[in-house]
Amino acid sequence: MDCIFCKILENEIPSYKIYEDDDVLAFLDITQGTKGHTLIIPKKHVKNVYELDEDTAVKVFGVVPKIAKALKSTFNPIGLNIVNNNDKPLQSVFHFHIHLIPRYENDGMVLSTLNNYGKFNDDHFNSLVDLIKKEL
Ligand code: 5GP
Ligand code: ZN
Repeated sequence: MDCIFCKILENEIPSYKIYEDDDVLAFLDITQGTKGHTLIIPKKHVKNVYELDEDTAVKVFGVVPKIAKALKSTFNPIGLNIVNNNDKPLQSVFHFHIHLIPRYENDGMVLSTLNNYGKFNDDHFNSLVDLIKKEL
């Protein structure tokens, strides 16, 4: 399997591991976008959230609070973002992973949603709900 994260799991390429259990691995992101930038992955090779089964999701997301608290205690960031990219061009490694990104004053990162508050009426919100519910 030509997957860089599977190779990390198999110790075929080195990584800075911070947590491991039977189903999940957490290790430092090589780019260290901010100090402590960490990735959490399931050991099972799953491409992205669309291929993630609920059992694996429970396992991998279940580790998030533990790592987040450790990063907070260690680095005392002003905040922490949890990010997951799915599909090109956002996603660059096609083995599901959750980014934990501690945030610091003036860290240069821009990571917040747009604010379109007040631009849409009730009908618009209700039509979105109807469309999404049909796909559940
Ligand atoms: P994506 O863009 O798919 O959400 O994020 C992939 C992440 O994997 C990037 O932040 C990138 O720095 C990280 N990454 C890519 N290759 C390696 C590697 O070999 N080792 C580690 N530790 N991180 C990697
Ligand atoms: Zn993989």
